[in-house]
Amino acid sequence: MRRILLSNDDGYTAAGLQCLAERLMGFADVTVVAPDRDRSGASNSLTLLHPLRAERAANGFFYVDGTPTDCVHLAITGLLASEPDIVISGINHGANLGDDVLYSGTVAAAMEGRSLGLPAIAVSLASAQPRHFATAATVIERLLAALQPHTLPADTVLNVNVPDVPYAELRGFEATRLGHRHKAEPVVRGQDPRGRPIYWVGPPGLAADAGPGTDFHALAAGRVSVTPIHADLTRHNALQALRHWCEEAL
Ligand code: MN
Repeated sequence: MRRILLSNDDGYTAAGLQCLAERLMGFADVTVVAPDRDRSGASNSLTLLHPLRAERAANGFFYVDGTPTDCVHLAITGLLASEPDIVISGINHGANLGDDVLYSGTVAAAMEGRSLGLPAIAVSLASAQPRHFATAATVIERLLAALQPHTLPADTVLNVNVPDVPYAELRGFEATRLGHRHKAEPVVRGQDPRGRPIYWVGPPGLAADAGPGTDFHALAAGRVSVTPIHADLTRHNALQALRHWCEEAL
């Protein structure tokens, strides 16, 4: 039986996590280790300056007073009796498209699994008020069945975004690249009860690079977007020019 480590960034009580856990438990040995609260936007942060506690909820889920990355790191390197076969993160409440993946705790949890040598999938339901979690759960079930004979390429995480519609209304699956967004909206300024300024980080920018082949485009067409991502941020095609500059800079 396949052993699955399931995490998320919306917290251990999130509906998306509950839905996916229940579905996976039908055919796999599932352990849930998730943050004790909503840590969306936590990116790949690790807690280094205080200890972590893992408590167990009545339903068996572990909840941790740390980030999504902490959860997966802790689970694989000490909490679990044996290593899982795969790490799955989600179902996130909201899309993770283009530049979102740099901020996403959902993607980060999957990345941490991959960093520790395991195949990993991040899954998000693309809607501000997500409803059809069952659709995303079925998508993951199908993907796992399809991936079984193969393994994901090393260092690669699958970033899956699912339209928020009944499964029968999906227009297929599409392998995509990440698109890009315009720069984010400005922060929203307010005032605390003592008259001091406070700031809310504003919404992300609208899609900019969103043509055919991108994750944005697949979703807009009603298809499940599956993007292979990796952590290599090097701009390889800028290396040559920079080498010349470095030689001259001395
Ligand atoms: Mn989230």
